Amino acid sequence: MALNNFLEFFQKGKTFRPKKKFAHGTIRYSLHKHACASLNSGINLRGAVKLPQGEDLNDWIAVHVVDFFNRINLIYGTIWEYCTEQTCPTMSGGVRFEYLWADGDKYKKPTKLPARDYVNLLMDWVEMQINDQALFPCTNDLPFPKNFVAQCSKILARLHRVFVHVYIHHFQNIVAIKAEAHVNTCYKHFYYFVTEFDLVSRKELEPLAEMASKIAKDPAL
Ligand SMILES: [Zn+2]
Repeated sequence: MALNNFLEFFQKGKTFRPKKKFAHGTIRYSLHKHACASLNSGINLRGAVKLPQGEDLNDWIAVHVVDFFNRINLIYGTIWEYCTEQTCPTMSGGVRFEYLWADGDKYKKPTKLPARDYVNLLMDWVEMQINDQALFPCTNDLPFPKNFVAQCSKILARLHRVFVHVYIHHFQNIVAIKAEAHVNTCYKHFYYFVTEFDLVSRKELEPLAEMASKIAKDPAL
């Protein structure tokens, strides 16, 4: 029920970016299908994030980075209209955490921005990374670059900030559309994945540490 409401909500055009898909016939396409099938089969999430035997870690990470980008994009898309310059003048996670945007390009120095602008730039940046053929090669015969895992860690750390903002500032909006179970499952999956492969530092995960320990203990979440 909650998921249906959620799907209905974003199908009304609340999402602001097209979903990134994998090309049929590639290893990543079949890994994506494999990952979806394990999730749908009710297998516990901690088990579902483990690298399937014989598979390449880079491919497994690539599939998950793209999948989390798509899902976080949808989640933010559902609350986007409530995240305004008035409600969220900075990209924060409560009073203790505030993120400044820098991309080495237009924003050379870390800059304070309204959360909506920050998330927009962040998602544009992630989209640029996953569409970069030198970083995410689209065919199986092209190698991943040496910095692939490091760059994915950076992408995942930034995507985590969207969870932080949504959880701390917009949870009531998520509850209002009955999407909290969906968001919690997505966060739990994300959390297990990044901790399984040590991809995001404890420092970045800290704003939601309490949330993470709560969902880890609660089998219903
Ligand atoms: Zn906001």
